[in-house]
Amino acid sequence: MRVVMLGPPGAGKGTQAKCLEKEYHIPHISTGEILRQAISNGSHLGKEAARYMNRGCLVPDPLILDIVHQRLLQPDCVPGYILDGFPRTLGQVRRFDTLLEEMEQPLNAAVSLEVRLDMFVKRLSARRVCSNCGSVYNLSSTPPKQEGACDSCGGQLTQRSDDVEETIQMRFEIYRHETFDIKNFYIAKGLLREIDGEGTIEEVYKRIVQHLKDL
Ligand code: AMP
Repeated sequence: MRVVMLGPPGAGKGTQAKCLEKEYHIPHISTGEILRQAISNGSHLGKEAARYMNRGCLVPDPLILDIVHQRLLQPDCVPGYILDGFPRTLGQVRRFDTLLEEMEQPLNAAVSLEVRLDMFVKRLSARRVCSNCGSVYNLSSTPPKQEGACDSCGGQLTQRSDDVEETIQMRFEIYRHETFDIKNFYIAKGLLREIDGEGTIEEVYKRIVQHLKDL
């Protein structure tokens, strides 16, 4: 099963993709995560990406398309995958569509998580990530047992540098301008599944699985 997760930053794409990864035994591929990893490794890709990410801007399409292409060629992607954070521009969606045609791997669904604007600012400001294992917490809905420490590994919880208010607003503006058309693209292809992204993690997850059941 090949699925892309759509929705504004903080809609819960990563959290839901992780749940789907466990259920369907296919990898969750987060382009943001790949880029953050590259930054912490100090690689050439990381240095290039950091110039855009620190300002809340999207990294250029050719860079991201190359990353996704290379990742999809890995053997664990043969049974399928859940893409999170990609495609994010109309250019990416078109090139991705062509790539999938060339690979003869049609997409099964584009799951769009719908959340209200005020919800996503609230969620992103409260998000904390373990600097060691990458586990994600929300200070209001899923706080760690001990303040500032990861439940799984005890690592230090940090706030992503792009989860601060002015960068959040910039990221939402980018979403509004560039990502909106993507939904229309997938509507035309009959692949869009719009899902109410509000409620608990379990409630949203049940709605997604219900939609994917028929694929
Ligand atoms: P995310 O973790 O998905 O919120 O992504 C964090 C940041 O990584 C974004 O604000 C962008 O700077 C960059 N990024 C991730 N995915 C993409 C993409 N598909 N296209 C361009 N930039 C991306």
